[in-house]
Amino acid sequence: MNNAKLLRNLPAVDEVLRRPELDATARAVSRRQLTKWIRAAIDECRQSILDGQALTEESAASFVIDRTLGHFAQEMSRQQQPVINATGILLHTNLGRAPLARRAIERMQQTAGYTNVELDLNAGKRSRRADRACELLCQLTGAESALIVNNCAAATMLVLQTVAAGREVVVSRGQLVEIGGGFRLPEVFAASGAVLREVGTTNRTYLKDYEQALTENTAAIIRVHRSNFYQGGFVTEPDISDLVSLGREHNVPVIDDVGSGCVSDLSSYGLNEPSVTLSIQQGADLTLFSGDKLFGGPQAGIIAGRNHWVSKCARNPMMRALRVDKVTIAAIEATAEIHLADTAESELPLMQMLSRRATDIRSACEQLHAQLEVPPSMRVTVCECTSQIGGGSVPGSALASHAIRIAGGDSEEIARKLRQSTPAVLGRISEDAVLLDLRTVPEERMTDLRVVLQNALHRDGT
Ligand SMILES: *Cc1c(COP(=O)(O)O)cnc(C)c1O
Repeated sequence: MNNAKLLRNLPAVDEVLRRPELDATARAVSRRQLTKWIRAAIDECRQSILDGQALTEESAASFVIDRTLGHFAQEMSRQQQPVINATGILLHTNLGRAPLARRAIERMQQTAGYTNVELDLNAGKRSRRADRACELLCQLTGAESALIVNNCAAATMLVLQTVAAGREVVVSRGQLVEIGGGFRLPEVFAASGAVLREVGTTNRTYLKDYEQALTENTAAIIRVHRSNFYQGGFVTEPDISDLVSLGREHNVPVIDDVGSGCVSDLSSYGLNEPSVTLSIQQGADLTLFSGDKLFGGPQAGIIAGRNHWVSKCARNPMMRALRVDKVTIAAIEATAEIHLADTAESELPLMQMLSRRATDIRSACEQLHAQLEVPPSMRVTVCECTSQIGGGSVPGSALASHAIRIAGGDSEEIARKLRQSTPAVLGRISEDAVLLDLRTVPEERMTDLRVVLQNALHRDGT
């Protein structure tokens, strides 16, 4: 058969659109999108024919349908969807950092419709947005006043712009950090209009370095928590109380960007993160932290501190651009309530994962391992590993944990299969094996994990 004849076997777009195989797809996406995929598939089919493939009418049609369903599946995989985090990284920025507490999720659902976000139900009058959430944050941190913005980067921007636009902010050279995802402190300073006044050296900065930098053009002193790396050896820097004394003496406010937002003592887990409460107790005028790191809540930036400075930030017109929505406020309220009620260990997923004992994680691994059917070409074992806090918190932290280790196959390929499953499973690759650290997998996801893992093993092993 010649090409011209074969090309007549190509289906028409309308014909394909009517095929029952595409009914579900047609309901899920726009007709325009579907048509685009079908056209692309027909073009591909045409090219195959021109390249010498003899496709019948029916094989051409099923080729087009398969390709279209493929496009649809690919589109669906891009949907934001639940992921099983078996990386052992508790606050994984790519996976949405802190998983929320049930109480927070319920409150987000309850407030998704109409809600009294800016209404005092008793007085029947307009109220300040997030009033109660801010009050709870004050109770929790001991601050006079609090403000909620979109994230900690927004908090830094707003605070610097309010306090120091066009003037100098003194900062140690040891704290000019990049947090990740391109968030570089010097660039945020520049964007806020504040002028960076660097003092000290990478490893050593003394109080006198700050003191010598103070002029009538100094608007603030800032301390930035190094978050994602640590310094050891020949290092020194003044602590926040020294900076506060200096600031008081010269009437200069002190800003403390603690980042990770630790509101309880985590030293029993071997974690020594700067505490928000301590920062405020020691007199920082403005303390900034993320809502979705160790606080265990939704993405947000929290500004806590002295009334004078917090109200100044609240009055900045930029505040309108940085404020959070009602659903986020509901989640922060619930998360703050949990911390205040001292039920973080039982209610906050982050704390549950942090406090899981290595022996319990091993038991979970062994139980899962016993249920797996492993093809002869693969070796699946239970091994020791370490979990990380992540999310720019507690650099170098290592929590003893256990993982399911999958070796003997192409580990990149297995990791890809797990990732592309439903639900998606994320592990990590170490020494040519896939590790699934179960510290970050809650009990209720174990069945899903087993099914996905079993499928991935068989598709690769046979
Ligand atoms: C994580 C972090 C930030 C950025 O916080 P986001 O909430 O991600 O914007 C800023 N400063 C410090 C010290 C941090 O650790």
